[in-house]
Amino acid sequence: MDKNTRIAIIGAGPAGLSAGMYLEKKGYFNYTILEKNDHVGGKCNSPTYNGRRYEMGAIMGVPSYYAVHDVEEFAGITHDGPKLNRDYKDKNGNVIHPFDPKKNPLQIPHLMKMRKQVKQLGEILETKYKGYDVNGHRGVAQGRYDGYAVTPGREKVSGVNENLKDLALPFDEFCAKNGVELTKEIWIGPFTSFGYGYFDEIPAAYVLKYLDFQTTMNFVNINLWTWKNGTQSIWEALNDKLRNHARLNSNIEKVERKDGKVYITVNGQVEEYDKLIVTAPLQFFGEYADIREDEKKYFDKIDYERYDTMAVETRPEDHPEISYYVFENMTPERYGHLMVYYRRWRDDKNQPIVTYTLRNHKDKPEIPYEVAKKTVLDDLKTMKNPASKVINEGDWYYFPHVFTEDYAAGWYDDVEAMQGKYDTYYAGEIMSFGDMDETSEYSRELVERFFAD
Ligand SMILES: Cc1cc2nc3c(=O)[nH]c(=O)nc-3n(C[C@H](O)[C@H](O)[C@H](O)COP(=O)(O)OP(=O)(O)OC[C@H]3O[C@@H](n4cnc5c(N)ncnc54)[C@H](O)[C@@H]3O)c2cc1C
Repeated sequence: MDKNTRIAIIGAGPAGLSAGMYLEKKGYFNYTILEKNDHVGGKCNSPTYNGRRYEMGAIMGVPSYYAVHDVEEFAGITHDGPKLNRDYKDKNGNVIHPFDPKKNPLQIPHLMKMRKQVKQLGEILETKYKGYDVNGHRGVAQGRYDGYAVTPGREKVSGVNENLKDLALPFDEFCAKNGVELTKEIWIGPFTSFGYGYFDEIPAAYVLKYLDFQTTMNFVNINLWTWKNGTQSIWEALNDKLRNHARLNSNIEKVERKDGKVYITVNGQVEEYDKLIVTAPLQFFGEYADIREDEKKYFDKIDYERYDTMAVETRPEDHPEISYYVFENMTPERYGHLMVYYRRWRDDKNQPIVTYTLRNHKDKPEIPYEVAKKTVLDDLKTMKNPASKVINEGDWYYFPHVFTEDYAAGWYDDVEAMQGKYDTYYAGEIMSFGDMDETSEYSRELVERFFAD
């Protein structure tokens, strides 16, 4: 493609800003990032309180976040945040030690069985499901893999593997099929409590591409990255370094694609581009763009999680010792309850505690926001860490995905085949997974595939 191609990128979250960075690395400098908000970072959102930043959105990374590492290098920053730690409570607020054999001698046979299944899952992922962990979903429904390995060098890999079709199954069924049901007790912590839905509804592909074996072990061993000034600061630093900073407060009124050009009406002015990269939610693309029938057909199938975060103050005597996970509240029966609450700054009780809750499930009515909020505040009392004041609230459009039927029917291959068709490329969470690294990595791959050297 011509290096002077005029490229519009919608959204200045990790996907959009990374697209800018990888385009620059390939020598494309004629790009414009349009962001509707007055700040960059999207769901990496780190407000300031009492002189320090806390997290309302993304919290952490792991050492296999290679794309985020590219961003850190490019922007001249590093992961310099507080070390996270956690404990566990039951739904009645009692501290428990589910994984500690010394404190739970009766559980030893169960823990040994679980450990064996974790090892077994690790082995089948490398053999039976070879290729499961490449970024994105191209080919999976057809029993193929095609992408880049999750290694620092991200070697190009591709191949045929019929077993990969199993990844369309809900994770519950995938585990039952492979006799590794107990592994869910490990995988659920960084999955459901992080807002990614329940194992009886979400295809295994999403679970395992994000929580590949290596990443899960990093969570187990608390080998995590955080940023002192919050995850938002990663993207602020990147935006500062980009040749073309994101244009904030851009209200996109219209997108019209005709005669090989893309016309975008931004804040009342029509701008002309050659290509468009959409990183904003595709589900809402039709609200401002000349969406085509095939685009609409696929984008209407996307669902997302209703994931709420709330930052609260407590009285010093009520401040939790550490962050807590409440596994009993991570089941579909207890949706709308407090699943986890984070204490980010362990040296300071004047910092907020942030709560996390999911209030939807595919087969159940959505719980209204205010109802879930009240439940969470009640749960904090049950946990003996009552809130004295709510200081911030977020109800996120979270983790867009498709369900098993559409995944198995080849949703991803069909949408991938549409890349570039209307001078438009699709990136952002739906195309890979809803985390910082997968979205950033997908943008890298998109640039590799379509914006050649
Ligand atoms: C509570 C929470 C916890 C999380 N924890 C983690 C974590 O620990 N680790 C991790 O890796 N990830 C985590 N994530 C997920 C991570 O933040 C997202 O996956 C990532 O930010 C997705 O990047 P994106 O660019 O695709 O989308 P977004 O971050 O959603 O960015 C999209 C951008 O597009 C803009 N936009 C939308 N519509 C328009 C429009 N019409 N015009 C112009 N601009 C538009 C938005 O304002 C936004 O800036 C968490 C997210 C949340 C909410």
